Amino acid sequence: MPSLTLDLLRPSPSAPVRPAAPARLNLAGLTREELRTALVETGAAPADKAKIRAGQLWRWIHHYGATDVSAMSDISKEMRAVLGERFVVARPEVVERQISKDGTRKWLIRTAPGIEIETVYIPDVGRAGALCVSSQVGCTLNCSFCHTGTQPLVRNLTAAEIVAQVQVARDDLGEWPSPKEDRRLSNIVFMGMGEPLYNLDNVAAAIDIISDNEGIAISRRRITVSTSGVVPELKRLGEETQAMLAISLHATRDELRDTLVPINRRYPLQQLMAAIRAYPGLSNARRVTFEYVMLKGVNDSPADARALIKLIAGIPAKINLIPFNPWPGSAYECSSWSAIEAFAAILNRAGYASPIRTPRGRDILAACGQLKSESEKVRASVRRRLELAQG
Ligand code: SF4
Repeated sequence: MPSLTLDLLRPSPSAPVRPAAPARLNLAGLTREELRTALVETGAAPADKAKIRAGQLWRWIHHYGATDVSAMSDISKEMRAVLGERFVVARPEVVERQISKDGTRKWLIRTAPGIEIETVYIPDVGRAGALCVSSQVGCTLNCSFCHTGTQPLVRNLTAAEIVAQVQVARDDLGEWPSPKEDRRLSNIVFMGMGEPLYNLDNVAAAIDIISDNEGIAISRRRITVSTSGVVPELKRLGEETQAMLAISLHATRDELRDTLVPINRRYPLQQLMAAIRAYPGLSNARRVTFEYVMLKGVNDSPADARALIKLIAGIPAKINLIPFNPWPGSAYECSSWSAIEAFAAILNRAGYASPIRTPRGRDILAACGQLKSESEKVRASVRRRLELAQG
């Protein structure tokens, strides 16, 4: 079989070691407020000019994708020199970049020593293409069908680290300045590594940056946050971000969901469904997406489909059926195609859109629930080096 990975960039062991990151503050992922504060606190702009200056920087960083202060041509040379002394506008290191034969792209991004995240671009999803971003390194939740869940939590990502994933994708897709029409990256989904509602402050700040009209300008209606069901945070998610909601459901009975999505033991289905029904802004135009992974003999019978219809009755919803993506050591198999189609037909007859998600990027382990893999080995080696360095 021919190799499926078309492009793989990993620096060779003989590549020159990069110099340590500069100590200057990186402006690339700051909120507008943080940008203003940084300008004032470093003396780069007086308080009464900071708002205008921050606005200029904002457009350069988030609309033009600038990575160098010296490129900001509408700022005087003297001021650019001042800014350059105090700040950088830097991207994190892209450790690895893979492109699947189906056009899916996956980047392994290192934002700090030992902090490596995977971000995946999937073409032809949403309006044009969706970027699946990570919100944590690893995950605490151990959903039994999810490869990512086997990696212990390292830490929450900062807002800047979340935004950096979008910037890296835009760099690679050649989408600067931020296009108004014909975008390749049109949607953002928080479905990568981690549980976004365990990092809601940073997720909300990142959404503010990504959706800002004078920058990356991806509408909040094209940003979807997927949660396994952290019930107490759902209301705040809706109020603070106005993002679209997706629920990693996968089962309609507590007994089964306790196993597949163990957070269900803390917030069982009855509580979860009540919180979804109360989600701010829910309407036919802003439907909830229920994600339902198809596991052979586990949750894929016609009776399961009917139970699903009963469970979500009255909620404006669509259901994404996800053929299970096997990973080494997983205990499950993907449902047969005929079982998935029969399941979808029952949902369709009940009036629910229920697209079957075409598996994407399987050849580069970029599909749902597969994030991690090689990068974890890299992380392990980084951890070992750090441990050694710290004695
Ligand atoms: S499905 Fe999401 S919440 Fe569950 S273990 Fe995987 S990354 Fe964590």
